[in-house]
Amino acid sequence: MKFFSIAILTASILTTLEIAAQSEPPQTVVQGPTSFNGKRSYEYLRQLCDLGNRMSGSPGMQKQQELLAKHFEKLGGQVTWQRFSARHPITRQPVPMANLIVQWNPESKERILLCAHYDTRPLPSQDLDPRQRREGLFLGANDGASGTAVLMELAHHIKSLPDRYGLDFVLFDAEEMVYSDRTDPYFLGSEYFAREYRKNERDYSYVAGVLLDMVGDAKLSIYQERNSVAWDDTRPIVQGIWETAARLGVNEFIPQVRYEVRDDHLPLHNIGGIPVCDVIDFEYPDRRNSYWHTTADTPGRCSADSLGKVGLVMLEWLRSAN
Ligand SMILES: [Zn+2]
Repeated sequence: MKFFSIAILTASILTTLEIAAQSEPPQTVVQGPTSFNGKRSYEYLRQLCDLGNRMSGSPGMQKQQELLAKHFEKLGGQVTWQRFSARHPITRQPVPMANLIVQWNPESKERILLCAHYDTRPLPSQDLDPRQRREGLFLGANDGASGTAVLMELAHHIKSLPDRYGLDFVLFDAEEMVYSDRTDPYFLGSEYFAREYRKNERDYSYVAGVLLDMVGDAKLSIYQERNSVAWDDTRPIVQGIWETAARLGVNEFIPQVRYEVRDDHLPLHNIGGIPVCDVIDFEYPDRRNSYWHTTADTPGRCSADSLGKVGLVMLEWLRSAN
C-alpha cells in the first residue's frame, strides 16, 4: 500500500470520536458453531511469518506458494496460478511472479472477489534504525500475512454459505516489490490481473469485491477508505460491510472516512472495472507509533481477536450478499 492523505477531520471531531470509543461498553460479538475461528487464522499468520520475508521471487515466497496451494486444495478450492514476469527494481533481472487464484463454485457466472496481497516488502524501509532500513528483516505480519491468513481461515466456511454467487480468492504478487517509494512501481500483480480480466473473453463477471490489507493489528480500527466510498459501484459494498459489522457489534469498523489509500483496489477498479473496496486499518497501533514498514511488523503486534473480527464480518457479509 502506497501512501495516504489524512482526511479533513478537525482535532475536535477526532477527540470526540476517541472519547466516544473509550466510553462505550464492550459488546459481544455474535458467534455460532460455524463461526470464523480467529485463533486458527492467527496460527496461519504465524506459519506464514515463520517462512521469513516473502518478497516476490524469494525462497520465502516460493515456500508460501506451496503452503497456500496445499491448504486451499485440501479445503476444496480450485487453485490456479496467473504467472507473469517483472523486472527487479535494482538488478533489472526478470522475477517470476504469480497471482494465486482459488475458485469456489467455479461454474457460477456471477462472482464475488475477495483478495489480498501476499508478497512482503523487501526491507523495513521505514524503520527508525538506518541499518535496519538497509538490511533488516521485514516479516510483514500485518502488511502481507494478515489478509492472507483471513482468507485461509475463511476457506473452512465456504460450504456453509449459500451459493448464489461464485467466489474467488485472489492473492496478488508484487503489491510492493519496492525499494524506493519514488521510483519503484506498486501493484504489479493486481494490475496484471485487472488487465487480463479486462481484455480476455470470459463468460463470468465480478459483481462485488473486497480487498483486505493490514487487518491483523491487535489495536484494530478500520475506517472507510475514501476512494471506496467515492466510487458509485463500491459505496454500496462499503455500506453493506459496515452495516454487517454494526449488526455484529464489531465496533472496530468505524463508519467514518479518514484516509485515501492507494492500494490494489485502484487498478482492479480503474483498469479492470471491478467494483472492489478496500478494508484496511491504516493506524497501527496508532498515528504516532506506527510500525508500518518496520522490523516491528511481527506476529506479536497482531491478534487472533482482530483477525477473528474481520473474518466474522466478511463471513456474515458474504452470507447476506448471497
Ligand atoms: Zn506495505
